[in-house]
Amino acid sequence: MHTVKERWGEIIDYLRTEHELSNVSFNTWILPLKVFDVIDETVIILVNSNANAEYIEKKYMLPLKVCIGEITGVEYEILFLSEDDERLENPESLLHETTHKRRSKSIFDKIGLNSKYTFETFVVGGNNKFAYSVANAVVNSPGKVYNPLFLYGGVGLGKTHLMHSIAHKILVDHPESKVLYITSETFTNELIDAIKNQNQRVNREESSLNAFRKKYRDNDILLIDDIQFIIGKESTQEEFFHTFEHLHLYGKQIVISSDKPPKDLETLEARLKTRFEQGCIADISAPDYETRMAILQKKIDNDHLEKYHIPQDVLHYIATHIKTNIRELEGSLNKIIALYKLNNTNEEMDISLAVEALKDFIVSGDKKEITPDLIVDTVADHYNISVADIKSEKRPAEIAVPRQIAMYLIRTLTEVPLKSIGIAVGGKDHSTVKHGIDKITKQLSKDEKLQNTINIIKKKIVPA
Ligand code: ADP
Ligand code: MG
Repeated sequence: MHTVKERWGEIIDYLRTEHELSNVSFNTWILPLKVFDVIDETVIILVNSNANAEYIEKKYMLPLKVCIGEITGVEYEILFLSEDDERLENPESLLHETTHKRRSKSIFDKIGLNSKYTFETFVVGGNNKFAYSVANAVVNSPGKVYNPLFLYGGVGLGKTHLMHSIAHKILVDHPESKVLYITSETFTNELIDAIKNQNQRVNREESSLNAFRKKYRDNDILLIDDIQFIIGKESTQEEFFHTFEHLHLYGKQIVISSDKPPKDLETLEARLKTRFEQGCIADISAPDYETRMAILQKKIDNDHLEKYHIPQDVLHYIATHIKTNIRELEGSLNKIIALYKLNNTNEEMDISLAVEALKDFIVSGDKKEITPDLIVDTVADHYNISVADIKSEKRPAEIAVPRQIAMYLIRTLTEVPLKSIGIAVGGKDHSTVKHGIDKITKQLSKDEKLQNTINIIKKKIVPA
């Protein structure tokens, strides 16, 4: 049976408590619903023929979607159908359209690509023109022109965006090609697992280490992000060296990103340095004012933010104050819109709102102070979840573990009392915080993967 069907009772129970449904609402609208089928990524739910399907859809579709996601870990579309709907005779045809749209998106999701990071959404300026053009050349002839392609630049300047763009475009142009995008953290953690399980067979003839090697070597293009985080780890460097040699020998494309050029990666093995320098090295630097304005404008277009009529002087204010990190440039635009919505007026946005919103981003002095908020932001960003998730009461491991890691890191990197740690993660009480910190501390002593991950997050918080 399908998980959604199997866990339906749990799902609606969760809906009932999360949304504090009254007994009457629950018994009238939710309890009679039946899962008819799950096809691809759509759950078909049957509504009693004398109930109002439209009303249920309007009121419960979104909450239900979220609850299904929370319980099963998969994001489904929902289709409500009345029990006597004739289309039930042939549900496949009915789903054709919704799933087709989703499917093209989900290919990218499955291999860990952000569907927003494409060449179309990438603004080209003087700071990234060279990197952009060599990335395109690589797409046009993978393995032939620039191999490896080594992209480097500071935090938030578009390295990951460009790497995902390359992977996307190759998959669109050549759907049959094998593309693997991975962070160096994942590479390291999977290697740790493979070594640990070396004596267990994956299947009759294959050891875990062989399976690991196959996964990385059997590709037409391998993109490895943030290579600076494997440096200093000898076994990982050694393994990566052989992966690299293998791919290179067979003319497969390798794309690497880093915060520094190879020569400045101090503890990187010499032979890897040499390899990285054999291909093309392209840097991405901070965007100039025009490019920053263009990026803001593009974000307004892509995210449909025209409706807020953000005045030019507000954009100008952002672009003059945020210079060295595009993620912060986007973040401050989001912050302004959030504040504007909160004020809930129909008046035009004005510059005072921008000043207020940017207080968080404009820091005096060069070094950022390590605050609980900075730690929460960095952890959320690392796990690709939102700060709101960390501060929520959500319990699935994908959110609870990062939340506990945030507590642990605030404890170890700052001097603030437990009470403030609780506040930083959304108002958790003393015992929850203590439990979280203890759990991570204990696990760290025996879990090498967690050690690796936490070291990486620490480096993101306190750059060398
Ligand atoms: P990095 O990997 O270098 O730290 P990212 O690729 O994650 O940076 O970029 C940070 C954010 O800025 C992302 O949301 C990305 O879409 C955006 N961004 C970066 N460069 C550009 C660009 N040239 N055009 C549009 N958006 C960009
Ligand atoms: Mg990145």
